[in-house]
Amino acid sequence: MEDKMEEITLITIATYTNPFEAELAKGLLEDSGFHPNLLNERIMSMYASIAGDMYKIELQVPENEEKDAKELLTGLEDSDYVTRILKDEGALLEGHFQLTSGKHSNQYIEKARILQNPAAAHNLCKRLAKRLAEYEFEAIISPAYGAIALGFETAYLMGKNFVFTQRKEGEMIIRNGFDLSRMHKIVIVEDILTTGGSIQEVISCVQNKGLEVVVIGILIDRSGGNIEFPVPLESLLCLEIPAYERENCDACKQNIPLEIPGSSDK
Ligand SMILES: [Zn+2]
Repeated sequence: MEDKMEEITLITIATYTNPFEAELAKGLLEDSGFHPNLLNERIMSMYASIAGDMYKIELQVPENEEKDAKELLTGLEDSDYVTRILKDEGALLEGHFQLTSGKHSNQYIEKARILQNPAAAHNLCKRLAKRLAEYEFEAIISPAYGAIALGFETAYLMGKNFVFTQRKEGEMIIRNGFDLSRMHKIVIVEDILTTGGSIQEVISCVQNKGLEVVVIGILIDRSGGNIEFPVPLESLLCLEIPAYERENCDACKQNIPLEIPGSSDK
């Protein structure tokens, strides 16, 4: 006896030129129980540089999923994509962590993992660039080191200049050598907003040079939206990560091994 395979008609609901973006959309559909398929994906991944003009990656779903899948895709926001990217890259960790504050938490963001995959970092910067597009400015500034790649990529995508700050004997300064006469209005790009301390320092050193900060662009606002600045803030993802004193930490009570992630150098 032979089973007759029922033929499934696949409908293309979106096209992409970027393999990372196609995979991302596919993953988000799968998360919601759809059965997506990528067409031309291999050709694109292998020959991305030459195939770009000839092929597009088609995101397909079975005919009966078309309407709902389209609806899901159009309803997705930056925060949905960013959460998925962070999880895919292993940048949003679950467990038992000691934060630099000494408090304990069940979640930890490993910033280095965001930069480890340039395709992921590029995708995040592209989303940030879209959010910053309505502002008028000439340059982006980022604090060393973690945010330099992100600020640079965002500036490149937006056709702007880029400068960065560094610490010299504890004080934050704009790195020597940049020609600041080319710029008046500046945008700050930072990876994660926690206490806002370093961003405040960047604002000060920009203002000390007689320049104006017009907006702050952040990938992840870890303060849960609780920190205010004298200029607008655009963040792709607002995340409140609860932290506990040792004596109130459930994970400690359950004897879950404590991880102490390495602190970053500035
Ligand atoms: Zn604990």
